[in-house]
Amino acid sequence: MTLVSIAQVSYLVAAVLFILSLAGLARQSTARRGNLLGMAGMAIAILATVALALDQSERPVGVTAALIVGVLLIGALVGTWRARSVEMTQMPELIAILHSFVGAAAVLIGFNSYLTEGHDAMHLVEVFLGVFIGAVTFTGSIVAFLKLSARMKSAPLTLPGRHALNLAGLVASVALGAWFIASPSIWPLLLMTVIALAIGVHLVAAIGGGDMPVVVSMLNSYSGWAAAAAGFMLGNDLLIVVGALVGSSGAILSYIMCKAMNRQFLSVILGGFGGEGAAAPSGAAAVEGTHTEVSVAETVELLQSARSVVIAPGYGMAVAKAQYPVAELVARLRSRGVKVRFAVHPVAGRLPGHMNVLLAEARVPYDIVLELDEINDDFAETDVVLVIGANDTVNPAALEDPHSPIAGMPVLQVWQAGRVVVFKRSMATGYAGVQNPLFFRDNTSMLFGDAKTQVEAIVAAMPATEPVSA
Ligand code: NDP
Repeated sequence: MTLVSIAQVSYLVAAVLFILSLAGLARQSTARRGNLLGMAGMAIAILATVALALDQSERPVGVTAALIVGVLLIGALVGTWRARSVEMTQMPELIAILHSFVGAAAVLIGFNSYLTEGHDAMHLVEVFLGVFIGAVTFTGSIVAFLKLSARMKSAPLTLPGRHALNLAGLVASVALGAWFIASPSIWPLLLMTVIALAIGVHLVAAIGGGDMPVVVSMLNSYSGWAAAAAGFMLGNDLLIVVGALVGSSGAILSYIMCKAMNRQFLSVILGGFGGEGAAAPSGAAAVEGTHTEVSVAETVELLQSARSVVIAPGYGMAVAKAQYPVAELVARLRSRGVKVRFAVHPVAGRLPGHMNVLLAEARVPYDIVLELDEINDDFAETDVVLVIGANDTVNPAALEDPHSPIAGMPVLQVWQAGRVVVFKRSMATGYAGVQNPLFFRDNTSMLFGDAKTQVEAIVAAMPATEPVSA
């Protein structure tokens, strides 16, 4: 068996491991196994690629080996440092910036492939498409990173004639593509790269507020297609398979996120959605009224007399790292016979599945963690809802105010419960920048302060088990 065929078989094994990994990641209970399978697949893929690169090296093998070890070491060091230091709340930005690397890699591979290899039509199409997708992914992901890390305002950039601008960019790129294939030269490729970089910036800058989750998953999908394009250019089957897996799973995720937010996929991608109210607040109804505050002691009393409690967690729980005391609170309530469940909104937090990950980390049993559809009808029969650091995902304006920037987005209808206690630090708005009428409802009380501190105080004030009485 030659080294090439061993590498091919290894690629096949790695591809199967990646598919099994995705299947494992589909459920929380098997996610750890899914991750391990993915890691094993990646290790096999890297080993096979390095072996192949050394075997086919045109330079002295030692030089190639030193170069590979050098870049692997740099990458591993930076990767390990970031993975250890990143806060869970910074994950979306980290993912966004990692997507930009895939985009940049596709652009560089495209130029390298054009400059060093033959110019048959098929290859030129691969190069052109790869560079286009890569460039859009590169700048789009950088803008997403800037928005998610609050280095750039999350409100949409709504240039006049923005759809026409995107369309003009696309038409110009197609024309440049025809020129590139008809008479190959670096110029149409360079010009298209500049246009694609601008399209990437504009596409993501035009998407605002609550629609960012779709952008994150969409760029995830783009990065997959960019990797697949790089696979075609390099003639690497595994990269094509992996790119297609990432590309299509990202597309499916984008579709799920759009459905969860009741948005049309195309209108989000074309931008300028999800923030028009923030840009022109006059459209949305003004939110006025007085809010009621509640103390820790009163909340404890409320919980002690409740028979059913639902907890709606959001981004604030992640920031405060309140999942651990929340899990402890749940255990205490359950030991007293209270029915406790979690209501998880699909876009709660800053990452698809963000809340599920945090709750799993704090060892909350999976069977009490319910999705929006599973629990929305139960609020009317719930005594107390604890909204822990959630805001946009529990905003009734989404259903009641057609001019609200989040109008139409399904939300957790917590206000239907007997009492609602909202844990947050102030009356500040959430990610979409819209005020929340829930805070002014008669059955809602605000428990101000850091979510972790407040939940810990509640846990401390609540004995572990109810003294059994007649
Ligand atoms: P929001 O972002 O709407 O609100 C979070 C709330 O948490 C804030 O109002 C804040 O209020 C409060 N908070 C912050 N820190 C603390 C703390 N230490 N203790 C207590 N409270 C705190 O959260 P949701 O989860 O309800 O909604 C998610 C939003 O993010 C949606 O608009 C969604 O579209 C968007 N998004 C989601 C992504 C995803 O993939 N899930 C990706 C990108 C965006 P205060 O400052 O007063 O404490």
